[in-house]
Amino acid sequence: MDEEPAPETAELLSILVADDEEGMREGMKRILEKRGHRVELAENGARAIEKLDSGSYDLVLVDLRMPEVDGFAVTDYVVRKKGGRTVVVIVSALATVEAAVETTRKGAFDFLVKPFAPDDLLRVVERAAGQARLLRERDKYLVELDGERSLSRLLINSLREGVIVFNLRGETVLLNPRAELLLGMRYRSGGSCSDFPFEPGCADSVRSVLAGETGERSLTEEVGGRHLQIRVTPYLRGAEIGGAIVLLHDITEEWETERDKDRFVSMVAHELRGPLAAIVSYLDIVLEGGDDGDREREREILRRSKLRGEALLELIDDLQYLNKSKAGKTEKTIETLDLAEVLREEAAFVAGQAEHAAVKLSVQAAKGVFTFAADRSDLDRIFLNLMFNGIKYNVPDGRLDIALRESEDGRWLEIAFADTGIGMDEEEMKSLFQDFYRIKNERTRAIPGTGLGLATAKRALAEYNGRIEVSSAPGKGSTFTVILPR
Ligand code: ADP
Repeated sequence: MDEEPAPETAELLSILVADDEEGMREGMKRILEKRGHRVELAENGARAIEKLDSGSYDLVLVDLRMPEVDGFAVTDYVVRKKGGRTVVVIVSALATVEAAVETTRKGAFDFLVKPFAPDDLLRVVERAAGQARLLRERDKYLVELDGERSLSRLLINSLREGVIVFNLRGETVLLNPRAELLLGMRYRSGGSCSDFPFEPGCADSVRSVLAGETGERSLTEEVGGRHLQIRVTPYLRGAEIGGAIVLLHDITEEWETERDKDRFVSMVAHELRGPLAAIVSYLDIVLEGGDDGDREREREILRRSKLRGEALLELIDDLQYLNKSKAGKTEKTIETLDLAEVLREEAAFVAGQAEHAAVKLSVQAAKGVFTFAADRSDLDRIFLNLMFNGIKYNVPDGRLDIALRESEDGRWLEIAFADTGIGMDEEEMKSLFQDFYRIKNERTRAIPGTGLGLATAKRALAEYNGRIEVSSAPGKGSTFTVILPR
């Protein structure tokens, strides 16, 4: 059994012994190796530095007095180059104790006075081992901290929200890339809230959050055409306010959707009101005897009410379709359809109305069979709308010629609806295809409609990657051409 068994918990270190006295070096090596430590030797300071450069040691035992490169220089080297990651213990003669103490001020951990007993050496080494462990843990902690810091950076930089951080003095200390993009500006150190393109309300919120007057503040602002929701919150350092965080959330899309919805609802309300008000006032006339009991006049009033009622039903029908297609809820039964056949059937459907308006209707199809895969009701919605318009906005003894053909490059099918009707000028055509858009002039005044026909036709066409082209001139007529991909 070993006289001095190494304690089980003792840490085994990698130790460099630098001493110009060979006996001293070897002696220390023997004692330390007996404890299981790994020991290397350097016969002078220069050699010690060489070894420190190439290897890694937990502990350096270095003689203070060596020629040329002495213990001071070695300590200095370890502190500067190794960032204090290696523990230095100075070995010195009694005469140089003061100098040895001095090295501890320069970064050496401890010193050992010669001559010493093996136990003295082991005790110093044990203490140094504790210190080495602390250094290793500190290193690990620093690495982790560094990792955490770059992780938070990464997180902040990849956020879809803009982040601005202000310190307690109100100076900008961080602006993430999203915030730079939203605000169209770069981070500038030492900047403040007033540099940002915000209304004063935001700067006020930051100020009052920093002063601890309010907790969180929320406001919305328009910055460079975008709508931002801005949240100002304090961040705490312990129990104290350390600064303010401003979070920017781009709500432009939601804002626009909301605005469109509001507009749509008010347009619908307006459109419903007209015919209903007319019906109510017609009924009033009859009920209050405004027609003097004239049966013929009564019938005329009821006929007009019915017309307005029908227009309302048409409007509601269009609205329902619009709503469904907007939400992508239309269920489709796709079948391969012969377009010439579809057009002929539809023309037969509107023939009565054409006759009533004294409009001559014709359907012509180029040679060959042109098929298209679609839901029949979508094609009806598109083509019937254009046919009704070609009849409605026509003149007595006018024409509506429908022609089906292939585009010159053979990639498209074209269906032209050419009428000889009232036509439109450039200005009037600008908003064509918008919901509820109706041209209001002398010629259109008496023609009923919802202003939704072209808008729904365009939407339905988009689902098939098709489009509509228009050419028109007032008094000359209009041609609407539906273009479908082959
Ligand atoms: P409406 O229900 O009013 O007919 P549409 O969306 O079908 O709604 O058409 C919008 C407007 O475009 C019409 O109010 C009309 O002024 C004009 N318009 C549509 N088609 C024609 C056409 N063939 N000739 C002249 N004007 C037309």
